Amino acid sequence: MITCGCDVGSRACKIVLLDDDKIVGSAIVPASDDSAESAERALKTVLEDSGIKKEDIAYTVGTGYGNPEIPFVQKNVAEMNCHAKGANFVNPKVRTLIDIGGMDCKVMKLNEKGSIENFAQNDKCASGTGLFLEDIAGVLETGVENLGDMSMQKTEDVKITNQCSVFALSEIISLVALKVTVPNIVAGIHAGVANRIVSMVHRVGLEDQFMLSGGVSKNAGVVGEIEEKLSIRLSVSDVDHQLLGALGAAVLAQSEK
Ligand code: ADP
Repeated sequence: MITCGCDVGSRACKIVLLDDDKIVGSAIVPASDDSAESAERALKTVLEDSGIKKEDIAYTVGTGYGNPEIPFVQKNVAEMNCHAKGANFVNPKVRTLIDIGGMDCKVMKLNEKGSIENFAQNDKCASGTGLFLEDIAGVLETGVENLGDMSMQKTEDVKITNQCSVFALSEIISLVALKVTVPNIVAGIHAGVANRIVSMVHRVGLEDQFMLSGGVSKNAGVVGEIEEKLSIRLSVSDVDHQLLGALGAAVLAQSEK
């Protein structure tokens, strides 16, 4: 039986097709202002890529910021529950899940079934989110996908003192003018993002194993800073961790049918 999970986020729309325990299709497309359009575009992409027909999908669960708008779902489930199920699907030993998406970040404590027992959330402040990192990349005239590699070239620690994203952006422009190198600035930004996550993890409680979900999981600089500050290793799977929310939605769709 094929089920579908569709996660319409603020920056990207993610979709997964699951056939029992096998992922048979997935797509990540940029989110537009129109969540219904983004979801339809993601569905069209995954159906074309996988060769699966829409009528072969037995059940679809929607999630994410734009979920009320998705036209082809049978049910909507809260985003955190979907990320938790997705992480549990790829590694049932995960107990602490950190989700860093475009607009917010969350830390969840999971049990062995992938249910959430406790969580902390930051949805008030833009700095520390994926969109903030995109803005930083914009100011530095590069793509967000390059920040991780760039930060690996750092030669010394630079502390970004402003906590607010608007002030942090102007601080970065000043640092560039002061000839502080871009790798050192980017590494300083990653360290600031990681510091916010670390304090949320401490609020929820440190419990092995750890996993990162959301698009920022692709930023090796942020990953490295979190691992260093918490003295942990983040668990990785062969599935793109930006897809974990959509994957969890597809897993939850299996129990609906
Ligand atoms: P949302 O669900 O809010 O749309 P996502 O979990 O899809 O958010 O994450 C989007 C964020 O992921 C972007 O803002 C960006 O910072 C980050 N991101 C996406 N792709 C990459 C990449 N290839 N390398 C590094 N960061 C990335």
